[in-house]
Amino acid sequence: MKVNPKKLLVTGMEFLPEWISQHIKSAQIVCTLDVSEESLSRKVKDFDGILFMQTISHYKITRKIIESGDKLKFIQSAGVGYEQIDVDAATDHGVVVMNVPSATTVSVAEHAIALIMACAKNIVKMHKTVLEGGWRTMIFGVELRNKTLGIIGFGRIGRAVAERMKAFEMRILAYDPYVKENDIKEMGCKKVDLQTLLKESDVITIHSPLTKETKGLIGEVEFGLMKNSVILVNTARGQLVDEKVLIKALSDGRIGYAGLDVFEKEPLEKDSPLLTLENVVLTPHSAVQNQDAMARLMSQNGIQVEKALKGVYENTVNPDVLKKIKKNQSRVAKL
Ligand code: NAD
Repeated sequence: MKVNPKKLLVTGMEFLPEWISQHIKSAQIVCTLDVSEESLSRKVKDFDGILFMQTISHYKITRKIIESGDKLKFIQSAGVGYEQIDVDAATDHGVVVMNVPSATTVSVAEHAIALIMACAKNIVKMHKTVLEGGWRTMIFGVELRNKTLGIIGFGRIGRAVAERMKAFEMRILAYDPYVKENDIKEMGCKKVDLQTLLKESDVITIHSPLTKETKGLIGEVEFGLMKNSVILVNTARGQLVDEKVLIKALSDGRIGYAGLDVFEKEPLEKDSPLLTLENVVLTPHSAVQNQDAMARLMSQNGIQVEKALKGVYENTVNPDVLKKIKKNQSRVAKL
């Protein structure tokens, strides 16, 4: 009997790099750059899985797309974040949603630390001064020893930052409502509430996911609690911080510096006031842009997709669906 080959839809890519495709043996692969809701709803009909690449900013796998996937069994986000996928709709339709969480942890932690250091040592301004012929002008940085680092979101990346920043002899505070006090204490850090972290930190770095609860987590009130000299670093998601308020706080000297890899709108708009400020260091959502992390991320994606095509799901973010699938399988077996 001829078995129909499975089909994998890769969204946001023109072709699938060898690093990923070499692992995928069980499906015909179709890539698409046309990621409008209309187009994906049409295309998805006879696909078994979607590999969601975060290459094009802010496109979504909506309920309509998921509902159009008559054969759809899984959607894999190619990175850590999966806020662009309607997980509730997937759960309603028995579609497994997965992410690839650990391949890029160290790279993002290192990038956050690079931004902290660039801000603290005023590196960009000093670099520009040298280019302009200046030497030992009165541009100052700050020393981090004995200062306080506040980590918002004490998951994989937050912890990796804490481990590394201990070498700078900083006092480390952590705000994470879902991590036990003891787990934070064991890492030599102190669990605090958000207000305390904002008030006491000299450097704040954000590592929580973007959810309904965390959208706009840092707004007017929160900026009002921070020290005037604070360095704010965001490598998580732009929408965690109210960008208008951030720009005002940076312009008015309400806060000292910001190091940003992520923005409310990406790519950053050409007329964004952030581009005119002197007390910012900006990178283009590039925390994982290095050979080691990319190779690891891509091959983990390929391996995980191949397993999913065979019905083995790893790093599931809606595990309730797995129970549903098991129940259905045992019902079919009994028939
Ligand atoms: P993780 O799930 O391991 O950790 C996130 C932590 O945030 C968890 O401990 C969770 O309890 C905590 N959290 C949830 N809600 C919170 C809240 N309201 N307040 C404070 N903390 C809260 O995730 P991770 O691997 O550490 O990644 C963190 C984020 O980094 C991802 O969600 C992703 O958006 C971002 N990221 C960015 C890049 C990049 O290229 N810049 C790359 C990878 C990941």
